[in-house]
Amino acid sequence: MKLTILGSSSALPTSERNPSAHVLCAHERFFLIDCGEGTQHQLRKNHIRFSKINHIFISHLHGDHVFGLYGLLSTLSLMGRQTPVHLYAPQNFGQMINSHLNDFDIHLNFELDFIPLSGKDPVQILDDKYLTVTSFPLKHRIPTFGFLFRDKTADRNIKKESIEKYKIPVARINSIKKGADLVLNDGTIIKNEELTTSPPEPLSYAYCSDTKYFKKLSSYVKGVSLLYHEATFGRDLSSLAKMSGHSTTVDAAHIAAEAGAGALLIGHFSARYRDTGGLLEETRELFPVTYAAKDGMTLDIGKLKPL
Ligand SMILES: [Zn+2]
Ligand SMILES: [Zn+2]
Repeated sequence: MKLTILGSSSALPTSERNPSAHVLCAHERFFLIDCGEGTQHQLRKNHIRFSKINHIFISHLHGDHVFGLYGLLSTLSLMGRQTPVHLYAPQNFGQMINSHLNDFDIHLNFELDFIPLSGKDPVQILDDKYLTVTSFPLKHRIPTFGFLFRDKTADRNIKKESIEKYKIPVARINSIKKGADLVLNDGTIIKNEELTTSPPEPLSYAYCSDTKYFKKLSSYVKGVSLLYHEATFGRDLSSLAKMSGHSTTVDAAHIAAEAGAGALLIGHFSARYRDTGGLLEETRELFPVTYAAKDGMTLDIGKLKPL
């Protein structure tokens, strides 16, 4: 699982920072999460092939998270795309996107499969061979959703020497990889733990933007490998954060600690911060394994080291 940041700014883009967009690459598939203005350009700059994106997740309908989508869809069509795009977004977006495409005479060559997000509880919205994606509600000024991407547990690794020692037939290997014991011809049972080693821990990534602090959020992202949590403001602007439905560095650190996250990534920075070093420092005081998002940065989620 690798995460590339295409935009780390909040509503106002700066010369260094674009509005929100992340790309998660898992098992050779690319998932686009939010699509602020400039996302197409950022995809090009970061050498991410448009055709590889089949799933797009929109957290909420504020412009800094969605204004890039119209142009991107139009480009996909101009490029001759024919495979469907699965678009996950708040439910009222279905009608909005259709009317926009009509208004601007955009005719897509491909199917736009719209999956509406709604409700007050986490919902599994994608389940395939390799991973699941769950959406969960955030607390912002309008309906907003976070996303949790979770790798499925891989099969156990069967030891070569066990295959030789017990002459395990090929037909049995699959079930042993899934955890079955081996029964020999004389009825002896060889426990699975003797035959296999554990697979690596499944990785996970959670995207939480935009939101103000609420304790329950940590239960939605319990034990996540990497938590992205917005930190629009520094700790001194906590009343502004509350008022605008956003979080401070302290809020982000608290959620990461309460969730027992492996690492925290902060972003969605207000344009008032030219340099985000101060925000990073503040967060690290409370949650040491914190990174600050930067446009063009890629994190390998399986290789995040304690700082
Ligand atoms: Zn925003
Ligand atoms: Zn917003």
